[in-house]
Amino acid sequence: MEAAIRASAQVVSDYRRLFVNRLAYTLQSMRPHTESGRHYYFRPEAKGTGKALGLTSATLQRHLEGEITIGLYSINPATQRSKWVAIDADYDGAMEDLLKLQYHLLKDSVDAALEMSKRGGHLWIFMEKPALARDCRIYIYNLALRLGVQIKAAGLGEGIEIFPKHDELRPGEFGNAMRGPLGVHRGANRRYWFYGADYDLEKQMAYLNRLRKISEDQLRRFIAGKTLPREFERKHPPLDDRVHSLPATGREFRILDHVGKVRKVGRNYVTRCPSCAETGHDRGGDNLAISIEDPRKYLCWAGCTREMIRRAVGCPIPVRRTA
Ligand SMILES: [Zn+2]
Repeated sequence: MEAAIRASAQVVSDYRRLFVNRLAYTLQSMRPHTESGRHYYFRPEAKGTGKALGLTSATLQRHLEGEITIGLYSINPATQRSKWVAIDADYDGAMEDLLKLQYHLLKDSVDAALEMSKRGGHLWIFMEKPALARDCRIYIYNLALRLGVQIKAAGLGEGIEIFPKHDELRPGEFGNAMRGPLGVHRGANRRYWFYGADYDLEKQMAYLNRLRKISEDQLRRFIAGKTLPREFERKHPPLDDRVHSLPATGREFRILDHVGKVRKVGRNYVTRCPSCAETGHDRGGDNLAISIEDPRKYLCWAGCTREMIRRAVGCPIPVRRTA
């Protein structure tokens, strides 16, 4: 592990200005999941009240100093705007694709910062003022298509992923989070830097501050006459989600619709945990307990989170990985 790094108040405030566009965030678990070995992200809640915690400067400082690792959401739901676009690539040949994008962005007079990651990298582009998520997406999707850079489509092959992943959010939605740059990746237990500056917080932030940001005018010019390629339209959540929606509480997910045979044990139904099952575990079929009285409540004894279980049954809670 690296020596202690201190983040100054200036670094924290620059970081907030560049990267934070809404106060909801995710936190990477410090310990790997017992079965998958992965460090999952969850949305932190206040102890006792269960209220979602908002991002504070103190939290950002702890992230930058490597004590915790957070994920950031791109879209502010009040404005449907984003301060940045991040392109995530983590397949063979990912770096070539990112460098190609970076080169062609530069031809548009757009500076893009390349950040290392566990496999491949992340390319970050900043807006002078928050821009509509939809417009950001139209620009980058069209650029990638023009350059022949493969974009990952649901369940199909490899390719870049572009954040924001949605045009807009509806109340209660979060979209997808990205690992906050310059923090320590828990899985890799190391910090990933931007290539563009020395590996030191002050110099990295000075570099990011110096980058040219896309102006409203520029973006308007880039997307004139363009639309989002149809196969990548993600304006609304999938239809299935809406079928189950209840007006009062938003969508209602019922775990019982998604598990195999259950048996009654005391006050619970017990069945195989779908998340454990993915990795061939829980052969005894008794890791998942579902409350009979209130089947909205369920728990995996092996420690799978709700997020993992929802993802395993193909109905992910909209807080996803952070690359
Ligand atoms: Zn499980």
